[in-house]
Order: sequence, then structure tokens, then C-alpha cells
Amino acid sequence: MTQSYLDYNATSPLRPVARIAMLAAMDAGPLNASAIHGFGRLGRKNIEDARAKIGALLGVSPAQIVFNSGATEGNNTLIKYFEKMYADEKILLSAIEHPSVQDCAANEEIIPVDRDGVLKYDWLEHRLRNGPKVCLISVMIVNNESGVIQDIPALAALAHRYGALLHTDATQAVGRIPLSMAALGADFVTLSSHKLGGPQGVGALVMNNCGVTPVLLQGGGQEKSARAGTENVAGIVGFGAAAQDALENLNSYSRLTDWRDQMEAELLRISPEIILHARSAPRIGNTTFFSFPPKDSQSLLMAFDLEGIALSNGSACSSGTVKPSAVLMAMGFSEKHAMSALRVSTGWATTEGDITAFVNAWAKIYKRIKT
Ligand code: PMP
Repeated sequence: MTQSYLDYNATSPLRPVARIAMLAAMDAGPLNASAIHGFGRLGRKNIEDARAKIGALLGVSPAQIVFNSGATEGNNTLIKYFEKMYADEKILLSAIEHPSVQDCAANEEIIPVDRDGVLKYDWLEHRLRNGPKVCLISVMIVNNESGVIQDIPALAALAHRYGALLHTDATQAVGRIPLSMAALGADFVTLSSHKLGGPQGVGALVMNNCGVTPVLLQGGGQEKSARAGTENVAGIVGFGAAAQDALENLNSYSRLTDWRDQMEAELLRISPEIILHARSAPRIGNTTFFSFPPKDSQSLLMAFDLEGIALSNGSACSSGTVKPSAVLMAMGFSEKHAMSALRVSTGWATTEGDITAFVNAWAKIYKRIKT
């Protein structure tokens, strides 16, 4: 039986306020927000209330938000749109983008990162100055594996100087660190509800007033024709409630940073040979990413699971097979390091007891491996 859930970067537990709000929306009736009747108007009100809450999270007008099924859809929408509409220009992506950005780009060039997972800004500036025209640059704010935070305001300024637009995938940042669309300077931001404690299967694409509205799904006038398909009213309501709760409790994230620092010090005390990634880069307080090359991550994940600790290796294991971490490979680590990575990620319901349980489990597993 799992006792400590430390895999928030994969998905977070549903916040109680989101659950209550969703149940109320589902109990309210068949809410098709496009209908003229009372049920329809109630559905519309629910969606617009949630839109205002997501707007508050990023300091934008609700009109700038288009609801969708999550960050995968948001990223696909944007990249595919730019590929189609600006076929003669290039899209630049960082080497550590999520597969939902990387796998749908065909006309892209890759911006390298250094050994700490920080973008090579000099490379980017050189490329923008000397290479073919770029229409879009896509760089995530917080990396889902390493937790490294990129300097999005600097990137946006650079992109704009060379006539490109900037997209940032804020999935791992939103509701965890303070974010303002104006301060970021980004033209497009993708969001996902379930990483901040809302339900799965709902997210949003947020647009600045740059005059471009990317569309992927057509066939209905929903979301002002920017995203066809009957809205997931209960999901959107849960997203809104979770976003509001996350915003009101942003300060509580500082305790996660304190626990992370104590935990990392303990890990190094128990097992000095582990490689703690991106330690000298700006990092979000909820993520620890380390490699222990003598063992592959799959066997370590199973050992932790037997101790009641739910962790992840950080890389794509959606097919059920653990692959080397693409992020670590991009950071210049060997396949051995990339195959032995473990990610600890915490969130709104994490307790100090969870951290202690993880450290104790590691001490036990490590002792067994070493003897
Ligand atoms: N971007 C990042 C950085 C992510 O971590 C994830 C979730 N693994 C996604 C996009 C996809 O999000 P969703 O599950 O909402 O499609």
C-alpha cells in the first residue's frame, strides 16, 4: 500500500475544493454551455467563473484564455498551427521540451542546454542573428524532470527583438511559483489542470494580444471558435477551483523548498556518490532529480514502491517501459546516468512525514544494495 505520494510532477492529488466544485457542477444537471435554456446558462456561468479564476492566476483578462483538454493539446495546437501557417520559417525548441512539443514539430531547430539544464542563451542569440527567420520559440518555464527554471522574460525580449513570438509551457510552474503573463512577456502559455491539483483532461492555452489565435480542433463555435467541442464543464470548474486554491496558498511552497534542501542534504550524507542534478541552476522548490548509476531506475522505483513510496524516473514511461531520461541526455549525461535517474516531486498535500519516509526508505534500499 502506497503511503507517501511523491510524484506531483506526473500528476497531483485532487484538491478537496476542486472535488466539491466538480460534484456540484455534475449534480446541477446536463450542462451544455452553448444551450440557450437555463441549464445551458448555468453551464456558461460555471465556465466564465472558472475562466476568471485562471485569469487571476496569470494576471490576464479572462478573454485571453481558451480551455482545452490539457497541456498536450495546448502544445500541439500551437506548434502545428505555426508549422502550417509559417511553413517558410523556423520554429526553435529547447532540447528539454516535453514530447507534446517535440514530437509534433517537423520544421524545428533545437536550442541546446548546458550540463545544469539551463538554456544556452548565447547560442540562441547567435542563431537568431545569423540563421533563417524564426516564427516561434518554445521553451518551458519549469522542466518536468529537473525542475530547472528558465529565464522566460529574457527569452521573450530576445524573441521579440528578432521578430519571433514566444511560447512557454507553464505546466510545471503554474500554481507553484508566482506567474504573471505581463512579467513573462510570453505570447502564448500552455497550462494543465492536474499538475496543480485540478482534474485530469482539462487545461488552457493563454494568449497575449499578439493577434494570432492558433486553432487545432474545428467543427463547432465553442471557445469563440478557437477550440471546437462541447466544453468539459465539471472539469473546467474543478480547474478553476484548484487554481484559486493554489493561488491563495502559493506561499506554502516555501516549506517544500526547505524540506527539499534538508532531504537533499540527507541523501548526500547517506550516499555521497549520487549525482544531484542541476544543483547550481535556478530550480523550483518541489523537485529533486538524481542519478545512482549502479542501479537502473526501474528496479529502484519498484524497491521504493515496496516501501510505500511512489516516485518516478522523470522520463516518458507512458508505454510501461522505462526509457533513458531525454532531459539528462540533452544535458550531456551518459545513458547509464539517464537510465538510473529518480525524481522526487512534492506538492500541496505533501507532509514532512512523507519526506522522512522517503529518506528512511532510501537509507534502507541503499544499505541493501551496498551489502
Ligand atoms: N508539458 C509538461 C511540461 C508536462 O509535464 C506535461 C505532463 N506530463 C505535459 C505538458 C502534458 O500535460 P497534460 O497531461 O495536461 O496533457
